[in-house]
Amino acid sequence: MTPPVDVLAIAAHRDDVELTCGGTLAKAAKAGQRVGILDLTQGEMGTRGSAELRAAEAERAAKTLGVAVRKNAGLEDAHLANDDASRIVIVRILRELRPRVVILPYPVGRHPDHRIASELGRDACYLAGLAKYAPVAGEEPHRPFKILYALAYREDPVKPTFVVDISDTFETKMAAIRCYASQFDGARAAGEIFPTGQDLYELIRVQSAHYGSLIRKPYGEPFFTHETVVVDDLLALGVQSL
Ligand SMILES: [Zn+2]
Repeated sequence: MTPPVDVLAIAAHRDDVELTCGGTLAKAAKAGQRVGILDLTQGEMGTRGSAELRAAEAERAAKTLGVAVRKNAGLEDAHLANDDASRIVIVRILRELRPRVVILPYPVGRHPDHRIASELGRDACYLAGLAKYAPVAGEEPHRPFKILYALAYREDPVKPTFVVDISDTFETKMAAIRCYASQFDGARAAGEIFPTGQDLYELIRVQSAHYGSLIRKPYGEPFFTHETVVVDDLLALGVQSL
């Protein structure tokens, strides 16, 4: 039996999680937490590079981030659907990895797979906890405790619920992103990142610096939760107001 993961990031395509929450994953791994990545598709519709090349790149990126386990659900790229068959595939993996925290894409996105991955991931997290949903002998139900949405690069008028300070792992995030040379070398845009004419790697740095500035740090990654964040000690609150 695989030991459970503390944090599992789920996204539609290989390279999505590196772009949106790679610094946070590297930070969790550095802190000794067990981190996993679940890519829902093999990226076979990508314009550049083959699915095989992206698999090798994804493996290198996972090593760079310090991720313990990276799985691929093998769903169809550009055809993701929040249907029962797809949910069952993810439920199986959730019951195997038993994450406490799951990071999902933000529910709005320009790529349909990103939107659907968000909804599909959330629904699978709920259903995985139902003992009578798609039961298999020897498999225990498991419902993740916390769902976070990675908000990076979104332009929706939604304030991050919190920003993770990735100043210490920003270079690791960039090194993981650079593993996808077949996708990104010479690129001017990717995923939810619109082109400005600047190099993609520079765009990611600028955006990460913007999110960092929201918490008065060099680099950050933003997240959204539907739930309210609890505070125990007012004096421990960070981020200066005036
Ligand atoms: Zn994507």
